[in-house]
Amino acid sequence: MRAAVLEEQGMPLRVRQVDITGPREGQVRVRIAASGVCHSDLSVQNGTLLHPVPTVLGHEGSGIVTELGPGVTGLEVGDHVVLSWITPCGSCHACRRGESHLCPNGASHMLSDHLSADGETLIPGQGLATFAEETIVPEVAAVRIDEDIPLDVAALVGCGVTTGVGAVLNTARVAPGSNVLVVGCGGVGLSAVQGARLAGALHIVAVDPVSSKRDTALRLGATHAVSPEDLPEALRYVTGGPGFDYAFEVVGIPETIRTAWEATRSGGTTVVVGAGSMNGKVEFSPFELFYFERSLRGCVYGSAVPARDFPRMLEYWRQGRLDLESLVSHHIDLDDVNSAFDAMQSGETVRSVIRF
Ligand SMILES: [Zn+2]
Ligand SMILES: [Zn+2]
Repeated sequence: MRAAVLEEQGMPLRVRQVDITGPREGQVRVRIAASGVCHSDLSVQNGTLLHPVPTVLGHEGSGIVTELGPGVTGLEVGDHVVLSWITPCGSCHACRRGESHLCPNGASHMLSDHLSADGETLIPGQGLATFAEETIVPEVAAVRIDEDIPLDVAALVGCGVTTGVGAVLNTARVAPGSNVLVVGCGGVGLSAVQGARLAGALHIVAVDPVSSKRDTALRLGATHAVSPEDLPEALRYVTGGPGFDYAFEVVGIPETIRTAWEATRSGGTTVVVGAGSMNGKVEFSPFELFYFERSLRGCVYGSAVPARDFPRMLEYWRQGRLDLESLVSHHIDLDDVNSAFDAMQSGETVRSVIRF
């Protein structure tokens, strides 16, 4: 089968023939229908996020189950599925207390050796390897969805949408009537805007330097959309001065984390949703941590339970309360994945979706 392989971080992906073997015990084979190109794929490609190579990237995918490994009982051949890049073990402390997104064993599917090219094993990117015609995943990573949902729409739920909407509904549990700030309007940020609308936020201020993304944010429920320079004025206008009840940082760099933090009111909550590098440093003085009584929270995968939240996101979509189509800038072929990275890097693209 064909797959886009990252042979070395910093280099372009190369579409090549890849061998796939399995499924083994507890695994299923999935024919990929669609895969979003997520910003963290770009961050792995350019080296911002460390990831072992050679690897087949892609972790926001949907498809159809074509084969069951021994012992698989919860899925059938022909099932339509969205893939989850966290595979909770079900028995650790995090899983038992209902926080399966924090499962320390949740990335173990990255160790699977079912992909190879010219005899060399390829790491499945974030465990899923959806930039490929087929993949093999643990049963728990394949969440069944209704068959009438278009698979290219459903794919987005596998990472960006669940992360952004989940950050608001699960991680922060935004209260109705809140003033919400979203810094960064890529696929995840625009999903956070929609999550804030679903949560009944009073004002939703979206910040992005790119005007087309601000326009999309307004269409998806932001009450105000401003460039970074205009944030102080928007803060004064919307909150009357004290700052936002919740600020979501959806970029993952120190400057924007500081921006979100400083725009949060005393006693409010700053949520870091962006996947940043391990090398950046964000500075806080001891005084400000104490004095402003703000909460600073991380957010992995929208604190989601995929088996619960993927169908929930798609039901919001079915009801017309979550716009997934507006997040897609382009439909592309697998061969166009490097140009999709370039477009994303330039800031003009929200989501490219590979259709197989
Ligand atoms: Zn992602
Ligand atoms: Zn676990």
